[in-house]
Amino acid sequence: MAPATVTKDHSILRMSKTAAPVARIASGDAVRLETADCFSDQITGPADVRGLDWDSVNPATGPVYVEGAEPGDVLAVRIERLETSDRGIMCTGGGWGVVGDRIDELTWRFLHVGGGGASWEGGPSVPLKPMIGVIGVAPAGADVPCGTPGRHGGNMDTRLIGEGATLYLPVQVPGALLAAGDLHAAMGDGEVAVTGVEVAGAVTLRVSLRRDLTLTDPVVETDELVATIASAPTLDEAASAATHAMAGLLHDRLGLDMAEAVMLMSAGGHVRVSQMVDPLRTVRFEMPKALYEASHGALL
Ligand code: CA
Ligand code: ZN
Repeated sequence: MAPATVTKDHSILRMSKTAAPVARIASGDAVRLETADCFSDQITGPADVRGLDWDSVNPATGPVYVEGAEPGDVLAVRIERLETSDRGIMCTGGGWGVVGDRIDELTWRFLHVGGGGASWEGGPSVPLKPMIGVIGVAPAGADVPCGTPGRHGGNMDTRLIGEGATLYLPVQVPGALLAAGDLHAAMGDGEVAVTGVEVAGAVTLRVSLRRDLTLTDPVVETDELVATIASAPTLDEAASAATHAMAGLLHDRLGLDMAEAVMLMSAGGHVRVSQMVDPLRTVRFEMPKALYEASHGALL
């Protein structure tokens, strides 16, 4: 049976424990969320960019209430399918992005997405790597704008969060209140322009509750690796937090000696910048499964 679909008019701009659920699902169920692009689909062509309402950017479709989810649980979210539109948008400059100081005007490009690549008129083709920019649960404390990442997930802009990956989110409020949006047809680590190839689309997510896991920050798993994800005011702080989180997982869950865990991480794992342009920076620590799984078993 096809999963229930939530249309993109059911969206939020802030992850909030008071947001009214737009769907309810049980552990083991899937839900399909249709998503607007990060500009709330306001831009259909170059003429629209001046009238853009910046107060309604970064929408996420949801929230979805997961029956039985309680604070302290972990919500495992498998991304079963990621569909993107054939039209992408990028912008940079005017103070936005890492090189925004060198580009006076906010500059836009409209891209065709298809045939394995994305390109603007006359431009080179960038290989597609569809991913979810914003995905998270409601925070226990104050509301968090969907444009900000954190322990609840949110705008992590992490290119590993794509089809086939499983994202593990620490549940903070009853029902978890899962929401997602801000799909990218492609994005490089760092997201230096302040945008990826921004697209509308849809994601099919299958959720399951994990009560045997304890997490303080999000973790993503692919076929090849597990990555701890941390967001903080600076890249240094985020890198340290992500590294600590991986060392803690390897020690606590697999019983590795802490010094040996860190040496293994140093020998074959990778600190990678997910994004350096959002209100908090996001860094991940990638640990290839090949380094530990044969000797110590699965991490998650
Ligand atoms: Ca984003
Ligand atoms: Zn985006």
